[in-house]
Amino acid sequence: RAKEKGGGRIERYAPAMGRASRVRLGLEGALRNALKNEEFVLHFQPQYQLSTERVVGDEGLLHDRVSSRLVGAESLVRWQRPGCELVPPMEFIPLAEETGLIDEIGTWVLESACSQLRQWQQWFGSEFKMSVNLSARQLCDPALGARIASILSANNLRPEVLCLELTESCLMGSVQENQQRLQRLRSLGVGISIDDFGTGYSSLSYLRRFPVTALKVDRSFIQDLGEHADNQAIVKNIVDMAKVLKLEVVAEGVETERQLSCLRAIGCHTVQGYLFGRPVAASDFATSINCSTDDQTDRMGQIG
Ligand code: C2E
Ligand code: MG
Ligand code: MG
Ligand code: MG
Repeated sequence: RAKEKGGGRIERYAPAMGRASRVRLGLEGALRNALKNEEFVLHFQPQYQLSTERVVGDEGLLHDRVSSRLVGAESLVRWQRPGCELVPPMEFIPLAEETGLIDEIGTWVLESACSQLRQWQQWFGSEFKMSVNLSARQLCDPALGARIASILSANNLRPEVLCLELTESCLMGSVQENQQRLQRLRSLGVGISIDDFGTGYSSLSYLRRFPVTALKVDRSFIQDLGEHADNQAIVKNIVDMAKVLKLEVVAEGVETERQLSCLRAIGCHTVQGYLFGRPVAASDFATSINCSTDDQTDRMGQIG
């Protein structure tokens, strides 16, 4: 299609080009340059696993000591556009998808995330995992599986330590094709997570048809946990059903202690959010871990 060749785009829009399309064209050109000039950066947000241990406290009372263990990170792309603040992904990923630039950006993201993972496996242990977001268009790329396999082997990584995050909406539509695409990725041994789970139209039974390994409960459900009985019931349902289906559940966007204690009560043990750490550049990751673990590791719960 002309759209993919880049040049055709100008012909198509030239006759009645308004301001909006000129802005778009400018942005598209800037995105292309960004790839050449290596203006993209990854930020990383830590993921923690909670565990509870019953201990005898100072007063001889039983306490639940909740500890959190760093288990991985999610990579989140940003654009360091010259002369601008860091541009968030929602401001350029949609255009990158439309124009097809996402294939190259996505490849860069996979390579960078995996090379970072290789280093962090040495620091944080060989169980440390990396989650990488994929867009719908990347999933359709027939070369994706081979590319991932070669990136993994170039970095000497076991496939289990990489988790691909895809949104529900990205799997809707051509269900059969997507089943096969996911199956091919899954057969590499990598994990597959449904991102923003609960915001689409799919039910868990529908998702069963896809070879997924984890669900990431959308932030909107986490937000008013502890204030909204409905959301608590919804999240509990997701967690309970996920257990039946033997899927891991990750809560995204955990910001408060209150949300955290609700999640513990519900039985959701893998968490990610500002409470534990914001996404930061790789060079700041270790420091941000140290700061957050100090005040996380010794949470005292009630005698339960
Ligand atoms: P996502 O994968 O659902 O990522 C979670 C988003 O929530 C991130 O926004 C993260 O910074 C933010 N977040 C994390 N914890 C909290 C919290 O406690 N509170 C609040 N309010 N927000 C929190 P970000 O980095 O702007 O990314 C937005 C979306 O852009 C991502 O949503 C993902 O869908 C997409 N994206 C990011 N990186 C990539 C990428 O490399 N490739 C593709 N295709 N999409 C990406
Ligand atoms: Mg994600
Ligand atoms: Mg998400
Ligand atoms: Mg999201």
